[in-house]
Amino acid sequence: MKYIIVTGGVMSGLGKGITTASIGRNLKNKGYKVTAIKIDPYINIDAGTMSPFQHGEVFVLKDGGEVDLDLGNYERFLDTELTREHNLTTGKVYESVISKERRGEYLGKTVQIIPHITNEIKERIRRVAAKSGADVCLIEVGGTVGDIESMPFLEAVRQMYREEPKENLAFVHVTLVPMDPQGDQKTKPTQHSVKELRELGLKPNIIVTRCPEPLLEGTISKISLFCDVSEEAVISAHDADDIYEVPLMLEKEGLTDFLMKHLELTSTGSEDKSWSKMVDRMHHLKGDVKIGIVGKYTHLEDSYLSISASIKHASIECGVNYEVCWINAETFEDHPEMVSSLSEYDGILVPGGFGERGTEGKIRAIQYARENDIPYLGLCLGMQLSVIEFARNVAGLEGANSSEFDENTPYPVIDILPEQENVVDMGATMRLGDYDAALRPGSLAEKIYGQSSIVERHRHRYEVNPNYVEKIEAKGMVFSGKNRNRMEIAEIPGKKFFFASQFHPEFKSRPGRPSPPFKAFIESMIK
Ligand code: GLN
Repeated sequence: MKYIIVTGGVMSGLGKGITTASIGRNLKNKGYKVTAIKIDPYINIDAGTMSPFQHGEVFVLKDGGEVDLDLGNYERFLDTELTREHNLTTGKVYESVISKERRGEYLGKTVQIIPHITNEIKERIRRVAAKSGADVCLIEVGGTVGDIESMPFLEAVRQMYREEPKENLAFVHVTLVPMDPQGDQKTKPTQHSVKELRELGLKPNIIVTRCPEPLLEGTISKISLFCDVSEEAVISAHDADDIYEVPLMLEKEGLTDFLMKHLELTSTGSEDKSWSKMVDRMHHLKGDVKIGIVGKYTHLEDSYLSISASIKHASIECGVNYEVCWINAETFEDHPEMVSSLSEYDGILVPGGFGERGTEGKIRAIQYARENDIPYLGLCLGMQLSVIEFARNVAGLEGANSSEFDENTPYPVIDILPEQENVVDMGATMRLGDYDAALRPGSLAEKIYGQSSIVERHRHRYEVNPNYVEKIEAKGMVFSGKNRNRMEIAEIPGKKFFFASQFHPEFKSRPGRPSPPFKAFIESMIK
């Protein structure tokens, strides 16, 4: 197994995740099987309990793992499906060491960070890598070198460096080369962060520098000299117009060749060009569709990262440009008349969410889309609210609501399933990950998926209450996807496009392989 360890210096937010995913994509293009692990040094067991406000979107894996959004980038760039074990957190590591200690597995020893925590980290990395059947395993260490939290992880990879043959490990350090007011590229922050890495016993083989403009030759030789890496291992990762160009840029900068040489990976003879073809298509989009996303965390695009990605995949596939506007749902609560401003959009999307805030505004937006036949895509909460809207305004169930927002509603058309009640562990209260749905013959759902049964990822606690299905369907909304008595898809036939799903199709969309509902949504806007 070859390991590529990616660390970050100077500051967070440099695009370490995209760099990691891009390196992986390039090796995949060369015919290697690649997997990736994200280390998040926080104490949370997983990202499930974290607010998308603070931490960006919670990405959901097929096995129900609620993980950092970087795993979404790995899945999209590597076109793979990962499991919860691919996200290692301090919480998970300590949890298992402590329970081993309680079971007496350490035979009376004092349990310490070195070796017990570091052994646990190494074991997990090696186990996940081996299980994936990959040739190359990328390991991205979250945070910045020097953070207290990441110390045990860096120590663990340092030990791996001692234990593994030299050609099995490559250390990539991502840093920042800022420009001073005179426009000079400054290498000091990079020098300092490499020094910090050295103090931990680690030496980078490759330095990827984020910089506004391509690195000058003088800058490269300076970094090479001061940081003790060869010049060809100083990679310029200057600002790109689009993150999907990063793999191509790193390839052009020679990163893949250097890595392969270092890791003694010989050519497999195969070369996958689909990524560059996809980027090429992306540069030749014609026309424009305008999508309004009515949500809660509208000022933070990271909170809906997979949705943005899915729209992008679909638009590239359809050959059309798109514009996304984030609309705060609460606007329509304070100013109901403003809802008519939605007429300027070609399509309206209501994403997933939790809590009551903004729900009435979203319901108004959905009503407007339905009544004015604007293509509508509802995801999870966006599906539940479209059912509530339909129940109230078409099926005559006045005051219908979800019991999540109104416990005393006369018509709980969205309700919690009995088996989900009374769970205290916050990590165990939701229906998470892959579930299948049978699609109704002749429905829009069946048409857009082109198959009669699908598997999609879920993250919800509430569902359509089966007791109201008949009443609602009698008025024209169709539940065209079902998992036994669970309603997975709601659609309204006769509309340009009105499709809402209890699942989150955005987690399975890939560049070159867009999610069917997103593709159909974009197509309906072009027509
Ligand atoms: N709050 C809703 C539920 O728990 C919807 C969840 C979501 O949109 N992810 O069922």
